[in-house]
Amino acid sequence: MISFALRCHPAAHEFDGWFRSGADFERQASAGLLACPICGSSHVSKALMKPAVATSAKTTAPEASTGEAGEPAEPAGEFANAEAAKAIARLQAMARELRARSDYVGPKFAEEARRIHYGETQHRQIYGEASTQDVEGLREEGIAAFPLPALPEDKN
Ligand SMILES: [Zn+2]
Repeated sequence: MISFALRCHPAAHEFDGWFRSGADFERQASAGLLACPICGSSHVSKALMKPAVATSAKTTAPEASTGEAGEPAEPAGEFANAEAAKAIARLQAMARELRARSDYVGPKFAEEARRIHYGETQHRQIYGEASTQDVEGLREEGIAAFPLPALPEDKN
């Protein structure tokens, strides 16, 4: 868009007109489409050019650094729970792997563990059920027995 200072005849009113281009002004003026907004005269011509100074408004102020405050801290409780859940998942995965490589001996765990320990049967990894007392007793005998975490599938 371009702005021209216009003047009507014969009253010489001055007003501004906006046009797509200088040619657009010429076309409208010669077609008598322009009219003075004050007197309605269609005799309109360009007045003296009004020089405009294109002031660069782009005084780019240094953008205040938004100061990334970082992620909002996770609530300690949730964080602890997540860590605990991860730890449990790790233990369960370990237990599954261990079970997969072990023979299930059921409630005869302590007995079987002793037989293995004393070379009465083939050395192998076993798992089964044992009371805390059984496990403590095995440990006293130097037999490494440790409780496996319960697995979700055990509840079936
Ligand atoms: Zn006029």
